[in-house]
Amino acid sequence: MHQLQTQEVDIVVIGGGQSGLATGYFLRRTGYSFIILDAGSKPGGAWNQGWDSLRLFSPAEASSLPGWPMPKLAETTDVGVFPARQQVVDYLKAYESRYKLPIQRSLQVERVTLGVGGYEITTDKGLWRARAVVSATGSESHPFIPPYPGIGEYQGQQLHSADYRSPGRWAGQRVLIVGGGNSGAQIMAEVSRIAHTVWVTLTEPTFLPDDVDGRVLFSQATERYHALQTGETTKFAGGLGDIVMVPSVKEARSRGVLQAVRPFVRLTETGVVWPDGRSETFDAIIWCTGFRPATDYLRPLGVVDRDDKVATEGTRALHSDGLWLVGYGSWTGFASATLIGVGRSARTTAEEIKTYLEQYSTASINHD
Ligand SMILES: Cc1cc2nc3c(=O)[nH]c(=O)nc-3n(C[C@H](O)[C@H](O)[C@H](O)COP(=O)(O)OP(=O)(O)OC[C@H]3O[C@@H](n4cnc5c(N)ncnc54)[C@H](O)[C@@H]3O)c2cc1C
Repeated sequence: MHQLQTQEVDIVVIGGGQSGLATGYFLRRTGYSFIILDAGSKPGGAWNQGWDSLRLFSPAEASSLPGWPMPKLAETTDVGVFPARQQVVDYLKAYESRYKLPIQRSLQVERVTLGVGGYEITTDKGLWRARAVVSATGSESHPFIPPYPGIGEYQGQQLHSADYRSPGRWAGQRVLIVGGGNSGAQIMAEVSRIAHTVWVTLTEPTFLPDDVDGRVLFSQATERYHALQTGETTKFAGGLGDIVMVPSVKEARSRGVLQAVRPFVRLTETGVVWPDGRSETFDAIIWCTGFRPATDYLRPLGVVDRDDKVATEGTRALHSDGLWLVGYGSWTGFASATLIGVGRSARTTAEEIKTYLEQYSTASINHD
């Protein structure tokens, strides 16, 4: 049988989306050898997967990775200055070649285990050995659908927002959209133009004021985050997950369809049963119910909890020396799941890894 190659580096970064690239940017400066291993066949990470109309919430200049600002749009479009997802893909592609980041693509990390003097990273294309590992695999490859009673009985079409591209196929149909975040609001806004929709959210959705785009949201949320840290109060109560009033959502509001109801009690073969006992039929359900961290390959280390998270201090794993997690959202650093926010986490991570490798000795590894 063909023997797969084993390679050695100081650091393996798993995931080549925006988080892996930002980490690579700072790792270059440490002088340690590293490789970024990415399952995707092309640059851009999750930005290759969004729906056709998906745009950033913030203008290019407020959506940049460390070192090199995203180029501004050449002209203002009908939706303002917010880049489309393809522009983000183009930016990430240019970013990795600009900084000559060492990336190997189309390669799935299957598991990370302990080896002699560090970690062994087993992929479908060979084995890597490294003294430090950065997990930067995001969540988009791990869609989450809540286990509603009767979910196995429903015979209509079901789709997660991760697989949603455009509304065309539901013209004239009855579509249930579940989820109160930005995905739910944006998908409901466009599907409701051509189909009969019902929007289900756990609680009343929180809409941001019309003049709060991603840039304002980020700076206000940052201010609030720092205020909470120091026990101060701020006027702004919004969070990064609140609904931004992008043009399509505003348009849905003007049609009077931006109304959400609370969840059904169970699914049936043809639809759902509401809390008042009424049954309603739907041709399709679109689950905009979020994602879980894509951390399965870390399970052999015994550090992954029931929510697929890992206990961390900042980005450093608490129970496995030499492991960091970057870009998964607030539990790995404030705003770390955004283009503009991940740089801070990435910088601290690279600094910590440098210190760790300087002090490194096999005897010091802690995997309690
Ligand atoms: C509707 C929506 C709107 C958004 N709008 C904005 C916005 O306006 N501004 C903003 O900054 N952010 C926005 N985001 C957030 C942003 O898209 C994501 O948080 C971001 O893509 C996460 O980047 P990442 O690098 O952590 O993960 P990803 O982009 O998912 O990259 C992870 C990479 O890891 C790879 N991978 C996964 N598992 C493995 C494995 N086992 N082995 C090898 N490789 C693996 C994947 O193939 C992928 O290439 C939005 C997200 C959504 C859903």
